[in-house]
Amino acid sequence: VRHHVQKICAFFAAMEAFADTLRRGGHNVRHLTLDDTRPFTDLEDLLAHLCERHGVKAFEYQRPDEYRLVRQLRGLKLPAAVTVKEADTEHFLLPWSEIPGQFPAKKHHRMETFYRGMRRRFDILLDEGEPVGGRWNFDRENRQPLTPEDIVQIPEPLVFDNDAGEILERLDRHGVAYLGERTRRLIWPVDRSQSLKLLDHFCTHCLPNFGRFQDAMTVRGDHRWSLYHSRLSFALNSKMLGPREVIDRALERFEAAGGAISPAQIEGFVRQVLGWREFVRGVYWAHMPQYARTNRFRARRRLPEYFWTGRTNMTCMVQVIDQSLRCAYAHHIQRLMVTGNFCLLAGIHPDEVDRWYLGVYVDAIEWVEMPNTRGMSQFADGGLVASKPYAAGGNYINRMSDYCADCFYDVREKTGDKACPFNSLFWRFMVRHRDMLARNPRIGMIYSSWDRQSTGTQAATLKRADWCLRNLEDL
Ligand code: FAD
Ligand code: SF4
Repeated sequence: VRHHVQKICAFFAAMEAFADTLRRGGHNVRHLTLDDTRPFTDLEDLLAHLCERHGVKAFEYQRPDEYRLVRQLRGLKLPAAVTVKEADTEHFLLPWSEIPGQFPAKKHHRMETFYRGMRRRFDILLDEGEPVGGRWNFDRENRQPLTPEDIVQIPEPLVFDNDAGEILERLDRHGVAYLGERTRRLIWPVDRSQSLKLLDHFCTHCLPNFGRFQDAMTVRGDHRWSLYHSRLSFALNSKMLGPREVIDRALERFEAAGGAISPAQIEGFVRQVLGWREFVRGVYWAHMPQYARTNRFRARRRLPEYFWTGRTNMTCMVQVIDQSLRCAYAHHIQRLMVTGNFCLLAGIHPDEVDRWYLGVYVDAIEWVEMPNTRGMSQFADGGLVASKPYAAGGNYINRMSDYCADCFYDVREKTGDKACPFNSLFWRFMVRHRDMLARNPRIGMIYSSWDRQSTGTQAATLKRADWCLRNLEDL
């Protein structure tokens, strides 16, 4: 996969900063850069060389989070005298050994059940065994769009001023291909101290409105890319922060606020870190490697070129793709309900979709990217992660954003040259997969709405959808 240049720089910078921290702590560190590893054909070759050169007797590694790498490390053939040991990682709350029990093979899993179990188990946001605020789920309160008055109040995001100059030179020296906007200034945290500052910034400035505007999107304001989101995913996934400390800091801030932060805000945040993050990791490990081949809807199309350029007439897609290419970041609803939704409706092959998501985002590592992309957004796993496909017409995007106001297309139309492509593609998707979806209690009623439309309207909608698919590159 070709990765975003800021993502490559952020990972290398974080590795270098970690090596420095260890050195300052008195450890003897040998940190290898691309300059050192270039002569070796693969990881095994490199490790065998290091064992020989340093007279290594024991090789111990922390278990990676990615299936491919775990297999590779477990299958290593090192010199016979070297003992090999795999250590557990502290960066998840659910112990590794419990994944098979919590995520039995061939069963669908439900995040809500898992999450409530995790809340009880770790005694988080509970008051004498009952959920704080009287409910487990505040989703209904947490779906507000942003008004112009809200937009001026969005806090300025904390960004960093790390210099990626040397890393960029090294990438050039080794001809590393990448995508996205190349910047010498790296805004992402690259060490623990910066990560903790970002966490504090989130707890102070964003947590009070996190849940409320979690799903909102806007084209306006300088801070439209960050909104009230934590942007902690890179710090978490690169292990500069642990999920427990992130949750604990947020809980401390909630308690110290003495009622000024509502339970809906903190619950919305805890749900993401304690619920979704742990849940998708469980699904990934329970279902790999076959998970990577799932394609429930037999989607076949290629990703249109504008995913790499942002050049399309669809304002929502321009906003999300442009922002992703510019700063290697988009928030959850942008990923799920704009680009993800578009790929689902347009029948893009999940391999293509996976490749784009894995490459473009600073936080993208397969264990978390794949269940979110293939599972939650493309429903390619047939419902292991999500209870229904996250398919929606332009109405949803219009409700949660101001994207449609300036768009070339008309969000109210589903037929005709100016009709929003999401509308007709949505109906085509629903009609095409009716056999599979009609029995799903969460979407069955959509078909009653389709059946009430005149045959003329139905035919015109499907005709418009076919045109959109034939002209996918030109939308
Ligand atoms: P916030 O909105 O501030 O949420 C707080 C934290 O909760 C995040 O930092 C993250 O650690 C966790 N979180 C929230 N939602 C999820 C989720 N669905 N799954 C796992 N953790 C979650 N997240 C990644 O970390 N890496 C990915 O490669 C990735 N790919 C995605 C692809 C698609 C198609 C979709 C729909 C979602 C994806 N996500 C991924 C989940 C989510 O979008 C990001 O975690 C989130 O946008 C990161 O921004 P943030 O730190 O500001 O999150
Ligand atoms: Fe996107 Fe359709 Fe709205 Fe345009 S009208 S921004 S294509 S949802």
